[in-house]
Amino acid sequence: MKNKFLLFVLVLLCLSARCAFGITVSSSPHDERQYEFHVLANGLKVILINTPKAQTSAAAMMVNVGSMADPDEFLGLAHFVEHMLFLGTEKFPTPTAFQQFIKTHGGSYNASTHSEKTQFYFNIAPGVFSQALARFSDFFMAPLFSPTWVDKELQAVDSEYKMHLNQDDAAFYEISKETSNPRHPFSRFSIGNYQTLGFDKNKLHQALKTFYETYYQANNMVLALVGPQSTSELLKLAQLYFSGLQNKPVPKIKSEVLFDKNVLGIDIHVKSKSEKRELYIKFPFPSFRVYFKEKPGFVIRALLGNEGPGSLSFALKKRQWINAMQVSYSTLSNEQDEITFYCSLTEKGMKNINLITQTLFGYINLIKKQGVPKTYFDELKRMSNLEFQYPKQEAPLTLALHFTDALQYAPPEALITHRYWDASLQLPQNQIQAILSYLTPENMRRYIVSQNERTDKESKWYQGQYSVNKLSQHEIKALSQKNSGSHLSLPPKNPYIPEKLNLKDNVTQKKLQKLILPGVTLWHQQESAFKKPEADIYINIISSCNLHVPANYLLSSLYTKAAQEVFMQNNFQSAFAGANFEIANHLRGITVSLSGYTDKQDALLKKLLIKMRNLKITSTQFDLIKDRMRRALVNYHQKPLQERAFQDLMMLLVDPAWHPDELLQTLKTLSLKDLEKFSKDYWEKSHIEMLVNGNYSAEEAEVIAKIAKDNVSNQKFAEFQPPYLKIAKLPKNSKKIQSVSSEDGNQIAVWYCQNATADDATVAKTLLLAKILEAPFYHALRTEQQLGYALSTNSIIVNKVSGLMLWVQSPSQTSAALLLRMQDFVQRYQASLNKITQKELDSYRAGILRDLREPPKSLQEQSALLWVAIEKGDYAFSRKEEIATALEKISVSDMITFSNQILSPVSSVGQILVFSHAPGKNVEHDPIFSLNSYRASATYFPEKVS
Ligand SMILES: [Zn+2]
Repeated sequence: MKNKFLLFVLVLLCLSARCAFGITVSSSPHDERQYEFHVLANGLKVILINTPKAQTSAAAMMVNVGSMADPDEFLGLAHFVEHMLFLGTEKFPTPTAFQQFIKTHGGSYNASTHSEKTQFYFNIAPGVFSQALARFSDFFMAPLFSPTWVDKELQAVDSEYKMHLNQDDAAFYEISKETSNPRHPFSRFSIGNYQTLGFDKNKLHQALKTFYETYYQANNMVLALVGPQSTSELLKLAQLYFSGLQNKPVPKIKSEVLFDKNVLGIDIHVKSKSEKRELYIKFPFPSFRVYFKEKPGFVIRALLGNEGPGSLSFALKKRQWINAMQVSYSTLSNEQDEITFYCSLTEKGMKNINLITQTLFGYINLIKKQGVPKTYFDELKRMSNLEFQYPKQEAPLTLALHFTDALQYAPPEALITHRYWDASLQLPQNQIQAILSYLTPENMRRYIVSQNERTDKESKWYQGQYSVNKLSQHEIKALSQKNSGSHLSLPPKNPYIPEKLNLKDNVTQKKLQKLILPGVTLWHQQESAFKKPEADIYINIISSCNLHVPANYLLSSLYTKAAQEVFMQNNFQSAFAGANFEIANHLRGITVSLSGYTDKQDALLKKLLIKMRNLKITSTQFDLIKDRMRRALVNYHQKPLQERAFQDLMMLLVDPAWHPDELLQTLKTLSLKDLEKFSKDYWEKSHIEMLVNGNYSAEEAEVIAKIAKDNVSNQKFAEFQPPYLKIAKLPKNSKKIQSVSSEDGNQIAVWYCQNATADDATVAKTLLLAKILEAPFYHALRTEQQLGYALSTNSIIVNKVSGLMLWVQSPSQTSAALLLRMQDFVQRYQASLNKITQKELDSYRAGILRDLREPPKSLQEQSALLWVAIEKGDYAFSRKEEIATALEKISVSDMITFSNQILSPVSSVGQILVFSHAPGKNVEHDPIFSLNSYRASATYFPEKVS
């Protein structure tokens, strides 16, 4: 009661001081950030966050309008407006003004259009935040909508539309629209293309302006400014740049219900392009946003998604109906929320969809009947309270986006607290029951997705194949059978909820130290900078079994997946108690990691390792896991074109790496006996390398190492070190061509140029060149030439080997034509590069240096960085700093010489091209016919170049 009263007084005080100081947002005593909420005189809502340690400043603007406001004659207009704001404003008329400024100063930007909101955002060095805001704010005051760029950008939107053709996700989203109430604006196409936008350019131009003037009004927007600046400085920036926004009333968009009776109680069968077996059961219901403190929907989500003994997941897995299950809670619109039950099905599950659905309703009925246990709600509150007390450090851009969004759900003073359950809160049994009353067969939308569904409809823009069946009264009745929940039970008390949490004030081991114990190499650091009673433990189980051959690599994957499965079933309670456990295989071993609160962590680790060591895999389990892996490999061919192209490039650069088709052939030959033999061998010949980082003293870390050693390691093998990855050294003047298939009309050209020397200075120059080229490349090839929607320049760094990658994906040009355009661009751009000033170079450099030297934001991030270094054998832990030091030394003339060398038409550097078209006569080339022959003639950099 006392706390509540205090909060009430605080809120009152803040409200009364609203005009002068804004509203202070309640936050945790351990949170060093300052938060304020203001409303400017023009009605613009502003959230200001001072993040003292941040290396960047960020801004996000959310406009409360999205594609649901598109006029019927211009579907995709909201999305098109979003694109057009970037292409010149009154004060900064060149279409590259904003983008070039952000990229020159090492920042990033983007925007996205949703059903009911559109977001624009960027981050940049704090020193130039004000100048960036000058450019950004003009988007919302005076965009030019120049007819020339309207014309060109139409092609970008059309390419963006075409990029998703043939993709299951795009088709699936469209089907969910087409099967909602056809009189609701959500049911319409929203991305836009030539047909819906480009039929009359003059009318489109007018529609753009009308849309913008109707909805882009100060009272309809929320701005967040975040950075190391004080909140009063941030307020001054907001007032300086955003006071000029127009503020006319905005019309409310009226619509019917999103899902009326006709589209509820239905089955939607979707035929997928990739090999999938999925079930989604969705329950829409009116928004419960007013109960933002109680969050009844989230209590239900937690209970349904629980995976411990007696749970829904446990029951479905036991019958071998599902591989994985997930329950989510989402907001569909301002009026509508939704709970989704999703599972990936086994073949057996595919035949028992009604029984799975009955079990789900069995569990829902159980909660209805017994109510949510008070102990369970107390545990939820305890974990939530710990999260609130020890807040995460988030990047300014993440905070800016989160907070503009959060204002939809909670009043300003509760922008942070609304994410957590308050300790004093009573169990909201009534609201929970109210939501449960919507979780019925009559109210569900059940999607069944596989390659074998019978369909009779095709979605309009993405050609998704589907059919819709209204369930009969008889079917509905059968689904809610009374006895379907008899084997289920609500969760028992969780023994892993942390109780004793003490941050050690006596830090004895601040620096990372290496301790060699028999059979164990232990790295330990008592990290206290994040002020959390947490620790991360990583254990790499290294074996002399050779993982560099496909069969062993696949067996280690199968073993890892089986172990993960067993842990999930047995240890879900510990996961719920804030402990994250992972097991992953890679080319140098099998890594087990555990992170979370230190209380009870040692006992949990011991339990996990014993389970893992004594893992028994049944033949049914083996078949299920093997089938899942088979599907993942088969579905490589359905992946987006650019993903496959990059994967192929990496496969040619590093060794070992295998093509999914090769792995598939090997997988087919593997049996449970092979796996049993492999795991026996693996354990017998193993030793461990580990990291303990966080709230543990050196003595405690040694105790943990001993637990690991006693349960895993065999000290005889402690000397063995597996080989590192090899990196291909492309011969001078070589131009290898790899082809990827494309069946949807999209084409790609990836152009990779490798530096012949592997050293820090070359790595640094490559990083710089990729950054310098980024904005002009984008402008020339996308904005001006409209070759495609997706394209970029990147540096590819593997250890000390570096290369530059330029790529374009296009719906209209051949790969060879795309390559010519890229080559033409670099040739012309060389003239500008030759004139680069010291000041410009310094500005690009500062952005990269900031990224390289940015301290980790959390214990988990820090541990992950240390672990990557340990796995690479980089025991100086100084890789990033070495590159940064080299970067500081690069002069203007170094850069000019370097870019002339790597990108000139007569460049002799080794190159790889990944094409989706035959190269034609104009491109000299050396095609790769098979990976084996390519490898047979490959040469490599010395093994350990890091
Ligand atoms: Zn777009």
